[in-house]
Amino acid sequence: MGSIKDLKEYAKNNNIPIMQEDGIEFLEKYIKENNIKSILEIGSAIGYSAIRMAKVDKNIKITTVERDENRYNEAVKNIELFKLNNQIDIILKDALEIEIKDKFDLIFIDAAKAQSIKFFEKFQENLNENGTIITDNLNFHGLTKNPDNIESKNLRALVKKINRYREYLKQNENFKTEFIETGDGISISKRIKGNV
Ligand code: SAH
Ligand code: MG
Repeated sequence: MGSIKDLKEYAKNNNIPIMQEDGIEFLEKYIKENNIKSILEIGSAIGYSAIRMAKVDKNIKITTVERDENRYNEAVKNIELFKLNNQIDIILKDALEIEIKDKFDLIFIDAAKAQSIKFFEKFQENLNENGTIITDNLNFHGLTKNPDNIESKNLRALVKKINRYREYLKQNENFKTEFIETGDGISISKRIKGNV
């Protein structure tokens, strides 16, 4: 136990939606190239993405938030297995109810997809001046391209909320957002200097 491969296998067997390989590789590269040293992650699940991000550089510090107790417990165990307790702080709480004072170079939103606007609005207060907010699952398995063809009403509503988030990002004048077609679709929102 204690390899990235094991984590991936556990996630697959237990239907835990961890980042896809090309998405996480993109994120690792972004962290390296932009010299990111502090990260706030919303949605830890079993700690997989936090562990991969922490392994980019031993000077990176991550705070990650998870509301599901079982997943939180798995994540705590995994962070210990990888001996990354000194780099990763995990908090068991609903991110919308948490008060965090610290500022971060990167905020990574990967939690409830219908609430991305709320997470973005709340946690932009925790972003350093030149910081970036990255969000995962902007394509939602390709469904965001044709929401009207979705039969399930709940799923259609969710996919429409993701598209509303895309619009919100495009119109947000305080950030410049790029949409990257890697993994399940990622947005990169860089704060425009002097705004907020
Ligand atoms: N980032 C992880 C995957 C996260 S899956 C990885 O790639 O390895 C999304 C997780 O967000 C789920 O475990 C879910 O329980 C959690 N989540 C959803 N809404 C949340 C909220 N409001 N606060 C905290 N965690 C939340
Ligand atoms: Mg995701």
